[in-house]
Amino acid sequence: MNTDSAPHLAQTSDHPLGYEVERADGPFLFLTNGHRLIDFISGIAVSSLGHRHPKVLQAIRNQLDRHLHVMVYGELIQTSQVQFSNQLADVLPPSLDCIYFTMSGTEANEGALKLAKKYTGRSRMVAFDRSYHGDSHGSLSVTGRRIYQYPFRPLLPEVTFLPYGNFEALTAVDDQVACVIAEPIQGEGGMRVPPAGWFKALRTRCSDVGALLILDEIQTGFGRTGRLFAFEYENIVPDILTLAKAMGGGMPLGAFVSSTTKMESLRRDPPLSHVTTFGGHPVSCAAASAALQVMLKENLAERAVWIGEQIRSCFGQTPMVNLRGRGAMLGLDLPSVPIAEQVVKTCLNRGVLLGWTLHSGTVIRLAPPLNISEEVLNEALGIISAAIDPFHAEHNT
Ligand code: PLP
Repeated sequence: MNTDSAPHLAQTSDHPLGYEVERADGPFLFLTNGHRLIDFISGIAVSSLGHRHPKVLQAIRNQLDRHLHVMVYGELIQTSQVQFSNQLADVLPPSLDCIYFTMSGTEANEGALKLAKKYTGRSRMVAFDRSYHGDSHGSLSVTGRRIYQYPFRPLLPEVTFLPYGNFEALTAVDDQVACVIAEPIQGEGGMRVPPAGWFKALRTRCSDVGALLILDEIQTGFGRTGRLFAFEYENIVPDILTLAKAMGGGMPLGAFVSSTTKMESLRRDPPLSHVTTFGGHPVSCAAASAALQVMLKENLAERAVWIGEQIRSCFGQTPMVNLRGRGAMLGLDLPSVPIAEQVVKTCLNRGVLLGWTLHSGTVIRLAPPLNISEEVLNEALGIISAAIDPFHAEHNT
């Protein structure tokens, strides 16, 4: 169903928010109806620096004066791609030294799955229940929610889904497996953090059987969880890391990252084993470069920890609410879908934009910009608490 004001735009939901955005600035969206919304989901974990950060805008302007698209990926040397890949390699472990830029998250995962198959010569894949890796066919094949897969079958064969966070299940990862793909925290799965030590066990199992470990940090990356990358909590290094969302500072950009040795396998047999026209767009790379500088300079990962603490002190003791996640990637799990829906609606009417997670209708997503001021954070938390309050009495009776 299309909205009246956009009759020719495809919709994939019968219930789009449907408000028209006039402009966005810092933590705020300004609507054409005169309302101001605090963006408490950062465009789904994208606008970690808020909207239109001045340093990002300046980098975009500078790049506009040099060039836009000039050639398909990899043929010409484009300064903004080179510069950003150098910056990224500097903040990643030495074995993640080779970066392939894409346009989006799902395309990054497509590249990662193909790389794992090409490098190992194997075809089986392991993924986890309630995962979300994107909506193109390969990524959907490793997305652990059957209702999203069924209408689009057949998908990739030989994908095994295991329960996330389950130690015993890892024995299913054997020497026929090309790769295991996992999110450090399952975002769309409802901000689920696996038990301590599980990722270490997964890493060990993958190394023992020669399967590549792909970590999808498309949502968790770039400071959101309180570390620049969430794998830093686990003391492991993946074989392939996938990135997108906040990386582009508001511009579309994704990447799959691995070692130069592994990435070599996409060069030949056949040559150009993975090609993209717009991947690593020069304007997106320029924006990403500025965004990463801001993240590091302003210590936004640490700031995510602080935001998480404020949110926990607001909701941590609320009996009806189960708070999950890490840093500023949190979910409020409420007792029922109707309660969660009502809280989101009330907040929207009172000026705070929240949302659900794709696989968990009871979980409200909290992912504010990481540079949100204390004042705006408190304003939003006050509105959310007030929206939850009426349900306490109801829930306790
Ligand atoms: N992987 C994860 C963990 C995500 O959260 C998402 C998007 O929400 C994707 C992949 C897909 O990214 P994109 O929408 O850029 O294709």
